[in-house]
Order: sequence, then structure tokens, then C-alpha cells
Amino acid sequence: GNNSVNAKLVLLGDMGAGKSSLVIRFVRGQFLEFQESTIGAAFFAQTLAVGDTTVKFEIWDTAGQERYHSLAPMYYRGAAAAIVVFDITSSESFEKAKKWVQELQKQGNPNMVTALAGNKCDLEDKRKVEVEEARTYAEENGLFFLETSAKTAINVNDIFYEIARRLPQA
Ligand code: GDP
Ligand code: MG
Repeated sequence: GNNSVNAKLVLLGDMGAGKSSLVIRFVRGQFLEFQESTIGAAFFAQTLAVGDTTVKFEIWDTAGQERYHSLAPMYYRGAAAAIVVFDITSSESFEKAKKWVQELQKQGNPNMVTALAGNKCDLEDKRKVEVEEARTYAEENGLFFLETSAKTAINVNDIFYEIARRLPQA
């Protein structure tokens, strides 16, 4: 039969990695070249059908700056899923993503479905993080990994769909 589940999802990652852009692409189908940076956190909702189940995502898009770091646990505590985002043109953002993964593994819900998004994959000529490096890291840490582009929409719906599919209730 038809059933519906609510899933709280949090986006974490360095400022500028493209968290807001990914959510806005997923929820509104839009992209802005000059996306305003997030203050504190922003909330979005979107539903996705997976087989017979409607997954209602409640999405918390966090700011990423260090000065907001202490707020992050409010958003990831009790979350069913997380997307940790880095920018493939920034090694620093990949290091930040690893820090977030560590924090989630220590303090987050142990059953959390966690995705690693290597965003801005449209900027191949500026790439600093190799696909293989990120994929290996993801495998070693029990994450699933996709390269995404909020700009071209590559793999954006797919990453949310894959999360929905992996949720225990779905
Ligand atoms: P956040 O701080 O992680 O929320 O990052 P934003 O979503 O605000 O994005 C930071 C900047 O990167 C903005 O200027 C976006 O337009 C740009 N951006 C985000 N995603 C992509 C992408 O996939 N490709 C390209 N080329 N630029 C992107
Ligand atoms: Mg943002």
C-alpha cells in the first residue's frame, strides 16, 4: 500500500561548497551564480516517491562557517540522513568534509544514512580532488559518494533519491 515517511536531512560542509545551491536545485529546480551565503541555517521541504513510499524530506541547510559550528548538532541530532558536501576544486573543502564525517560518526545518529557529495563537477578544468581519492575515502567510511553539479543538475535528484532508497523505513 501507500505509505509516507518523514525524513530529517542535514547538509554539512565548508562555506561555498554549494550546499544551498544543491538544495535549491533539488527543491526549486533553480541555480544562481551568486547564491547568497546562508546565515545560521535555512529550512526546506520536498517530497520524493520511492516505489510505494512517499519520503517527505525536512531539509536543514547549515551555514558552514566556523562561528556557526556550535549550532550544527541541533541540526544533525535526530537527523535520518546527512549530505556532506565539498567542492571538487578545493582540497581544503575536502579536508573540511572529512572533519564533518568524523563529527557525525562520533556524535550523530548511528543509523544515519550519509552521502558525500563532490560538488561543482562541471568545473573539471579546476579539479583539485580526484574522483578516486574521494571514492576510496567514502568506501572506507561507509558513505555513498556521488559527484554533483548544482549548476548543470547532474546527480542532484539522484543523491536525494539514493538517500531515500536507503532509509530504513522506505
Ligand atoms: P554554500 O555556502 O555551501 O551554501 O554554497 P552556495 O550554494 O552558496 O554556493 C557557493 C558558490 O558556488 C555560489 O556562487 C554558487 O553559485 C556556486 N556553486 C554552487 N554549486 C555549484 C556548481 O555545482 N557548479 C558551479 N560552477 N558553481 C556552483
Ligand atoms: Mg549556504
